[in-house]
Amino acid sequence: MITERIRTIQQEIAEACAGRRIPAGEVTLVAVTKTVPAERISEALAAGITDIGESRLQEIIPKFAELGQKLNGITRHLIGHLQTNKVKKAVELFDVIQSVDRLALAEEIDRQAEKAGKIQRCFIELKVSEESTKHGVPAGDCLEFAERLKNYSHISICGLMTMAPYFAEPEAARPYFRTAREVFDRIRAAGIHPGFTALSMGMSNDFAAAVQEGSTMVRVGTAIFGER
Ligand SMILES: *Cc1c(COP(=O)(O)O)cnc(C)c1O
Repeated sequence: MITERIRTIQQEIAEACAGRRIPAGEVTLVAVTKTVPAERISEALAAGITDIGESRLQEIIPKFAELGQKLNGITRHLIGHLQTNKVKKAVELFDVIQSVDRLALAEEIDRQAEKAGKIQRCFIELKVSEESTKHGVPAGDCLEFAERLKNYSHISICGLMTMAPYFAEPEAARPYFRTAREVFDRIRAAGIHPGFTALSMGMSNDFAAAVQEGSTMVRVGTAIFGER
């Protein structure tokens, strides 16, 4: 079941890429495994998933331990809000922290990464929606924020992450994806961060529209593993 769902999603991503005339390999499918037990994650990994996304630190420590060797070579993304006092653990457990939304957080990631002897890959989280429950840097402040992040030697800023509001009709999310794409292009054009290549947007209900609007990374949970 999980394998079939992954194949269907890969097919839909490939179709959206064809529409943009880019190779399907240019879009990364991140399987969002929050609340999903290790056994079902194993199934997704066996189906060829290379990237997983998690949001709650408490839950992953035992899960990652249970998965053990199976996580070798798998890129782990933290996609949820990160509290400053949990940064040490996050740096230890994740290859990419997608939710950098404030300078104090960046500063602490830099400090812990230096201690761990690591360059921590991070994305800037952009807030495109008006919903107060969403985190992130407003579009108008992103370029300046990206510039300030240049000062941290143990952080590598590799991309931009955003979450459109939920709409039953995914077409309605397009304006939000376009805003994100503009912010992404602006930061890239400024040439501040050489490794800035990922635009992480699109979830179960809207990933095809996101890819059509320029996403290079989709984060899909429900459409792979079912309702949480
Ligand atoms: C849960 C979550 C997802 C995946 O959502 P689905 O609708 O289950 O695909 C993607 N991104 C973030 C930041 C999430 O928290």
